Amino acid sequence: MKHSILILGGTAESRQLAERMARDTRYAVELSLAGRTRSPVEQPVPVRIGGFGGAEGLADYLRMQDVKLLVDATHPYAARMSRNAVEAARLADVPVIALRRAPWQRKEDDRWHDVGSVPQAVSALGDSPRRVFLTLGRQELLPFEAAPQHHYLIRSVDPIEPALDVPQARYMTDRGPFVEADEMALLQGNEIEVIVAKNSGGPASYGKIAAARALGIEVVLIQRPELPEVASVESVEDALSRIDHMLLPL
Ligand code: NAP
Repeated sequence: MKHSILILGGTAESRQLAERMARDTRYAVELSLAGRTRSPVEQPVPVRIGGFGGAEGLADYLRMQDVKLLVDATHPYAARMSRNAVEAARLADVPVIALRRAPWQRKEDDRWHDVGSVPQAVSALGDSPRRVFLTLGRQELLPFEAAPQHHYLIRSVDPIEPALDVPQARYMTDRGPFVEADEMALLQGNEIEVIVAKNSGGPASYGKIAAARALGIEVVLIQRPELPEVASVESVEDALSRIDHMLLPL
């Protein structure tokens, strides 16, 4: 008998946690992905893909699989899934913890402009044409169609299809981590004047923030959504020791 653990993933940390737990014979770990990226990177444990059908669907799944612990290791902007996780854990009476990266903190030379949403980020760009670097998903990009005066450079994991309805957009596909030196070259090479980004936290996408600081480029930073109150940790190490305490020995 092993402790059955479900990790809600889609982040580097979820993969790292799964990998560490897979080495521990006490745990049988399954990783859940939403199925947003076409070819997700290989995972170190069995994977299930696709939504559960809301909190009730996830609660059913937890009961059916006799899950002993739910770990919400989704991205800090995946607020719906995080709310569902807390509600499902309550319904199925399963303990839950969240693994959430700490947000990046502003440093002295950062030129951050905090906004609460993507539409606010679009407004923050202003009326005059600017050269903008965007690293958002397709759904989040749609509001930028309201500001066709800007020149956009858009980077995503999968191609943005269909393309945005704006006259000046260049697309590139790439998967992180992105280091500062490469980000600096990209920003300079494309004469970027402003970046729109989420405060994802963690090192993998910090390169553009550090590069923007070095180059004096403004960053319009979309603030994190409100996340549910739940026991949470910020690192894989802390998650491992918390899980160790939560689950009784077999
Ligand atoms: P979301 O808005 O919070 O979730 C929307 C729906 O997608 C959920 O209600 C759920 O469907 C399904 N879902 C989300 N994460 C899932 C998971 N790990 N396993 C199974 N179903 C999942 O989420 P999102 O912002 O679209 O993000 C989707 C996934 O991409 C997440 O797993 C997240 O970790 C990853 N990701 C997100 C971002 C971001 O900026 N949002 C960035 C990097 C990675 P049902 O209600 O049907 O269960």
